Amino acid sequence: MKLLEYASKEVFRRFGLPVQEGKLAYTPEEARRVAETLKPPYVVKAQVPVGGRGKAGGVKLAHTPEEVEEKARHILNLTIKGVPVKKVLVTEAADIAHEYYLGVVVDRRNNQPVIMVSAEGGVDIEEVARTKPEAIHKLAVDPIWGLSDFQARQLAFRLFQDKKKALKAAGIIQKLYRAFQEVDAQLAEINPLVETPEGELLAVDAKIVVDDNALYRHPDLEQMRDMDYEEPKELEAKAADLSYVKLDGTIGCCVNGAGLAMATMDVIKHFGGEPANFLDIGGSSRPEKVIKAMEIITSDPNVKVIYFNIFGGITRCDDVARGLVEAFRTMEVKVPLVIRLTGTNEEEGRRILEESGIPLHTARTMSEGAQKAVALAQQAG
Ligand code: GDP
Ligand code: MN
Repeated sequence: MKLLEYASKEVFRRFGLPVQEGKLAYTPEEARRVAETLKPPYVVKAQVPVGGRGKAGGVKLAHTPEEVEEKARHILNLTIKGVPVKKVLVTEAADIAHEYYLGVVVDRRNNQPVIMVSAEGGVDIEEVARTKPEAIHKLAVDPIWGLSDFQARQLAFRLFQDKKKALKAAGIIQKLYRAFQEVDAQLAEINPLVETPEGELLAVDAKIVVDDNALYRHPDLEQMRDMDYEEPKELEAKAADLSYVKLDGTIGCCVNGAGLAMATMDVIKHFGGEPANFLDIGGSSRPEKVIKAMEIITSDPNVKVIYFNIFGGITRCDDVARGLVEAFRTMEVKVPLVIRLTGTNEEEGRRILEESGIPLHTARTMSEGAQKAVALAQQAG
């Protein structure tokens, strides 16, 4: 789960990292009122889950609350990398002498967190990594021992010659690492870490990505989940214990097991179709889950055909069949449905479907089902 800048800063604040005063606003007027409680000058910043907001015009300086209102009006009308801006963060502006980069990320190859620092901050760090890799200093941290003070100081001295500043930066690196570890982050990043003309250091931008698998340990962070930007159907699916990811194609998929779901999408693509979603109904197949899955899939207007690919193990084919019959009884299904049902209780499942008389295209194999689904999607245009 990606935390937006304002939420990431909230977390940083808890860990004692230096961040500017500021507050969220949903309207230009609200932005002005926030500014009235702060010291000028101000920055108005689009809160969207994508980077490069500055370049896209989503970060603007303002000198008066009226100007904040004007800038907020402009930014709230922007769409940045396909994401419409729904709220802005209004903060006190920092004076910038230099911009640095600080980040902690999980290095999957070495199974260790890696700290990265660079004096080339503010800009896209991937760009720096490509064009000037020597400008990024890295340190792998042993997760058991943690980050020692001397290691943090070593990194800090890569950025600052002045001892006082380096020690201050070392403290910030330590706090960033602590925050990263305590919230079970996959990424915690400050870009830029700003040095002011007075020699202060400030986290001007913040980004935290929390490992979804650890969210149950952080109900407070779960609350920061941004409903403004989440796909509502994905949340609904999560509540029903289904894994659903919306995609852009026309073939709605309903599968049991993540591996089979991936394979099904591959096979659909192999035969020239495009999946409309990834949907894993999971191991147990209570009929209610199948009904919910049908509701979610059919609510996507792009779906031209539905493909059920069920390989019964713990999942029982008769349960899936009952769920489908119930779904057809309670909702109007306007698109054709292809089903491949095999494994535990498959005869029982087939019998239930046949007796129900619901309109189905059946298939014996995954490939056959995918081909039928692709053909039906093409017929539907
Ligand atoms: P990003 O473009 O999405 O990474 O957004 P940032 O928060 O990093 O802001 C982009 C750029 O705007 C920064 O690199 C700064 O140059 C500038 N900026 C952001 N906040 C301030 C501020 O408080 N004062 C000044 N002078 N510039 C800022
Ligand atoms: Mn940034």
